Amino acid sequence: MAGGGVEPRTQSEFRQPLPEADGELAQLLGKELARQRQTIELIASENFTSRAVLEAAASVLTNKYAEGYPGARYYGGCEFVDEVETLAIERCKALFGAEHVNVQPHSGSTANQAVYFAELAMGDAILAMKLTHGGHLTHGMKINFSGRLYHVHSYGLNRETGRLDYDEIEELAREHQPKLIVAGASAYPRSIDFARFAEIARIVGARLMVDMAHIAGLVAAGLHPDPVAVADYVTTTTHKTLAGPRSGVIICRQELGKGIDKAIFPGLQGGPLMHIIAAKAVCFKLAATEEFRRRQQQTIANAALLAQRLQEGGIKLVSGGTDNHLMLADLTDLGITGIEAESRLEEVGITVNKNAVPYDQLPPTVTSGIRIGTPAVTSRGFREPEMEEVAGIILTALRPHTTEADRQRLRRRVEELLAGFPLYPHL
Ligand SMILES: *Cc1c(COP(=O)(O)O)cnc(C)c1O
Repeated sequence: MAGGGVEPRTQSEFRQPLPEADGELAQLLGKELARQRQTIELIASENFTSRAVLEAAASVLTNKYAEGYPGARYYGGCEFVDEVETLAIERCKALFGAEHVNVQPHSGSTANQAVYFAELAMGDAILAMKLTHGGHLTHGMKINFSGRLYHVHSYGLNRETGRLDYDEIEELAREHQPKLIVAGASAYPRSIDFARFAEIARIVGARLMVDMAHIAGLVAAGLHPDPVAVADYVTTTTHKTLAGPRSGVIICRQELGKGIDKAIFPGLQGGPLMHIIAAKAVCFKLAATEEFRRRQQQTIANAALLAQRLQEGGIKLVSGGTDNHLMLADLTDLGITGIEAESRLEEVGITVNKNAVPYDQLPPTVTSGIRIGTPAVTSRGFREPEMEEVAGIILTALRPHTTEADRQRLRRRVEELLAGFPLYPHL
């Protein structure tokens, strides 16, 4: 063919909106949006991010390579992404009262990996919370990089109280002399005394890393004891209570900043996800507002009410309740497993996850518990009256002998409840 150049057909595919360019994928996105709209989302680590964050995450910044840091990049054309990243850093510093911030980690796990990489040599000892008692994979699970590269000692919850036992943690720290102590959890329903952790770290000469992935929104709102003032390193995700894009952040004291920046790039990552960093900048702006603070307050109030009603309905909660956005139900006495409860709730339109309870006798693929959290439903607009209804639906769905007619009634109640709270009406 004479002429060459870009064929008109290719040009038009480049310009096509998603439903035209890829109908198959667009349909799947539509189904996922419908699923999010039609279910009561009680997974404690999930949330609905704002429209503005969605728009930033879907922006042209995805096109830009920006290896390095603002003012010191390996690529040209970084003048605007430099400003974007600086804005994200400055807003995060102001939000948490931080000295140094790195906004480049792709996820919470990468943030933790970078702290270990900066602070530890292979085989060094760390002391962190047991996965089976509420810790995270990156806190030393056997087949996770953290369990394979470092010498992990772990602390759990007290069998009677279902709470952290700080005296025991201090004993373990004295015995094992870890180089790094990790505080923070994925399934702990109580406030954590970070000042006590800092004291224990000081006694044994360890550094303290607080992983606030779950509670960052509560911390930003001043509704949870502050880790930033007392820890050497604070890592977080930005997509849980903080309600931003799926990503991570590291906060640290000024003198540790160089080591962290080097660990992230060039240590662990290549080019930063500038569109996601832009979305983090938006998230930090919104998290500094009074509206955000009130929503975090409501998240806690919703969890407290749900916890109370579930207990009145005969469900046992680990530690007997909650101080934060989540609770852990121990279903042993009800005679159903975590996986069974998860699927019974899913059948009526409620999403939770099965979760090990401390000293669980069942394998992690089955478990004796479920974890229930309120960030997503609170972002959607649920308050006390809706939580009363949610509690009623859960208690009925978990009863031993429900019929198909019962389940249909419950599904209708879920639909009616959600109809009053449209999700992303602009989409
Ligand atoms: C969710 C979570 C993480 C990891 O976050 P990802 O973004 O999924 O990698 C790390 N630590 C804790 C305590 C978490 O709850």
